[in-house]
Amino acid sequence: MIEDKQPQRTPISELGEFGLIDHLTKNIEIKNTSTKYGVGDDCAILEYGDKQTLVSTDLLVENVHFDLSYVPLKHLGYKAVMVNLSDVYSMMGKATQITVSIAMSNRFPVEAVEELYEGINLACKLYDVDLVGGDVTSSNLGLVISITVIGEVEKDKAVKRNGAKDGDLLVVSGDLGGAYLGLQVLEREKEVYKVNPDSQPDLSGYDYVMERQLKPEARMDIPKILNELDVLPTSMIDISDGLSSEVLHICTQSEVGCNIYEEKIPLDPTVISACEEFNLDATTVALSGGEDYELLFTINAADYDKIKGNPSLTVIGHITDASAGTNLVTRAGESITIKAQGWNHMS
Ligand code: ADP
Ligand code: MG
Repeated sequence: MIEDKQPQRTPISELGEFGLIDHLTKNIEIKNTSTKYGVGDDCAILEYGDKQTLVSTDLLVENVHFDLSYVPLKHLGYKAVMVNLSDVYSMMGKATQITVSIAMSNRFPVEAVEELYEGINLACKLYDVDLVGGDVTSSNLGLVISITVIGEVEKDKAVKRNGAKDGDLLVVSGDLGGAYLGLQVLEREKEVYKVNPDSQPDLSGYDYVMERQLKPEARMDIPKILNELDVLPTSMIDISDGLSSEVLHICTQSEVGCNIYEEKIPLDPTVISACEEFNLDATTVALSGGEDYELLFTINAADYDKIKGNPSLTVIGHITDASAGTNLVTRAGESITIKAQGWNHMS
């Protein structure tokens, strides 16, 4: 009798996004000396001479990462580029080239792809990046966009996630939570539209959060500011999945703990008022809402005077010994363990 052996079928959700990446890549052996750093950070680092090359790829899938019922294609193209540039800036690099690959169904006319490319081209122009290639293919699953970015950084000046030390300060650029609230506003309007297609969307007062969601800007200025101030962060990451997820990446890879002070988390006043309206807690939104594309980094405490008073930078806490854990210190002075609550598209 032949036994009918069922192949093992482990659901991907059992591993989660990061667990899956780890599972697929843990046995990779680097074969080329030009590969200075492979999987595990915002970019890979390649080295050919006195400069290092940074490479990162992102994939955006319709109805998983974006919803064309409320995201204009031009904005989508712009944002897709920003998502990638952000990974280069988060290693203190300068983005120089991108390639763009798209798969789309025949429901998209040429005009739609042109609109998408308007956004992509605008991003390239404003951020001084060359579009140097890509691929186009058909899809029966709507629109899929994959962008690869290439950047450069001086030899050994790339800042990774794993260099934070006990006593370092935790710093964040800009403010947090806006992109998530922009999404809440858009989703609310979509529901209203479903019920009453003649209604005009009421987006007044939401300009800032809408822009944060639809037209985010990658922080090209931050590596420049830090270079000018002569500050080399000890670790750095971009905030794509929310503050808690990103600070945990830094703490895990650096084998340290942290204290983040709730009262220090930078929030725009319109984010605070929109949170009240949507009955959301602003701190939770900053910690768990995604897509802000700000930069989170650590600096040696001796560099504090150099960044102090810079309007783009806020010290939100400090790094501790790993044994102290990863904590949010609330306004009431209570310590709460920070857990990963970032977007997990696979859960
Ligand atoms: P980010 O949030 O910055 O885009 P990810 O969480 O997607 O980063 O990826 C973390 C690390 O895992 C990166 O170094 C990335 O290059 C690597 N990675 C992601 N997906 C894969 C894959 N399918 N195969 C190999 N490496 C991957
Ligand atoms: Mg990243």
